Amino acid sequence: MHVHFREPGLEYKETVASGAAAAVAGGFTAVACMANTDPVNDSPSVTAHIRQLAKQAGLARVHPIAATTQGMKGERISEFGALKEAGAVAVSDDGLPVGDPAVMRRALEYSRLHDLPVIEHCETLELTGEGAMREGAYAAQIGLPGIPAASEFIAVERNIALAEITGARLHIAHLSTARSAAAVRRAKAAGIRVTAEVTPHHLILTDEAVGDYDTAAKMKPPLAAEADREALLTAIADGTADAIATDHAPHHEDEKKLCFQSAPFGIVGLETAVPLVLERLVASGIIPLAQAVRLLSTGPRRILGLPGGDLRPGSPADITLLDLEATSTINPASFRSRGRSTPFAGLSLRGQVVATWVGGREVYSQSANR
Ligand SMILES: [Zn+2]
Ligand SMILES: [Zn+2]
Repeated sequence: MHVHFREPGLEYKETVASGAAAAVAGGFTAVACMANTDPVNDSPSVTAHIRQLAKQAGLARVHPIAATTQGMKGERISEFGALKEAGAVAVSDDGLPVGDPAVMRRALEYSRLHDLPVIEHCETLELTGEGAMREGAYAAQIGLPGIPAASEFIAVERNIALAEITGARLHIAHLSTARSAAAVRRAKAAGIRVTAEVTPHHLILTDEAVGDYDTAAKMKPPLAAEADREALLTAIADGTADAIATDHAPHHEDEKKLCFQSAPFGIVGLETAVPLVLERLVASGIIPLAQAVRLLSTGPRRILGLPGGDLRPGSPADITLLDLEATSTINPASFRSRGRSTPFAGLSLRGQVVATWVGGREVYSQSANR
C-alpha cells in the first residue's frame, strides 16, 4: 500500500530493483511506491519510467503513486488523467503534506473526475516544527523536541471534512494516534469515502522504543503512546483501518548514523512486516489470520482498484506461501533492501515467508536463498 523506492534520483538509498527484491522476499507480490523521488513523480514520463524499471526487475508488481501537486510543492495540481493513463494508481504528496486547504479541496474534486484515491500523509508542519519524536513524557525525559499528536489529528480531521464536502475518495496514510482512528471511525459511520492504513511499527512499538536515541526508531509519524497503540489495535480489529502498510522508507546507513535530531525520518519494513504481523497480531490473538490477509492483501488492492488478491480461476497467480510455525531472526545484514534501519533487528519471530509467486512465476524461495 505504501513504500518508497527512491528511484529515480536517490538510488544510493534504494532502487526499484532492490525494493522489488525486498518486497518479494517479504512476501509482497505487489507494492505501491510514493512519488517523492528526484525528479518527483508528477509526470507521465516518470510514472512510465518506474513501471519500466519494475518490469526489467521482473519481481514484484510496482504500482506508482503520482504526486498530488507539481513538484510536491502544494500549489498546482498534477495532471491526474495523464498520470492515471501512464499507470498511476493514486496520488499523494506523502512526506510533504498539502498544507493549503483550498489546494487539497481542488485536488479532491479533481480526483473524483479521474476516480483516483488521494492518499494523504496527515501532518501539520507548523505544529511539528523541529520535533524529532512524539511529544510526551519520554521525549521530555530524554530532552528531545516533541511532535504533538495534534500535528496529525488536526490534519486528519481537516482532510476528512474536505472529503465530505467533495465526495472524493480519501485514503489516510499511517494512522498513529487514538484521536485519528476515532475520526476515521466516525467518518466511515457517516458514509464519508475514507479509508486508512496503519504500519506494523505503530501497532507494536511506543515512543519508548527511541530508547537511548536510537535512530532506527525515528520515523514519521513518530511512535506514539501506549493508549494510541491500543487504539490502533482496535482499529485493525474492528475494520476502522483497511490496510496494514509498511511505509518502507530506506535511507543510507551513514544517514541513519547521524545524531537523533539530524538523522532522516524513516525505517525499512518490507522484510519484517509479515513475521511481525503473524506473531504479534495473529498468534497473539488480536486479529484472525483471515483479517491479516485482508489488511495486507485484499484491503490495499480494493483501495487502489487492483485485480487479484484471491485464488479464483482467472485471477493473477500472485501468491505468498507462509509457514506459520517456522521461527526466524530479523537480520538486517540479510535484507535485499539497501536500507538497513529497523527497530526490530535481532527479534526472533514465529511465522515466515517460504515462497512468493507473481503472475504464476516463482520470484522468491526461501530454500533457494539459504
Ligand atoms: Zn508519510
Ligand atoms: Zn511514506
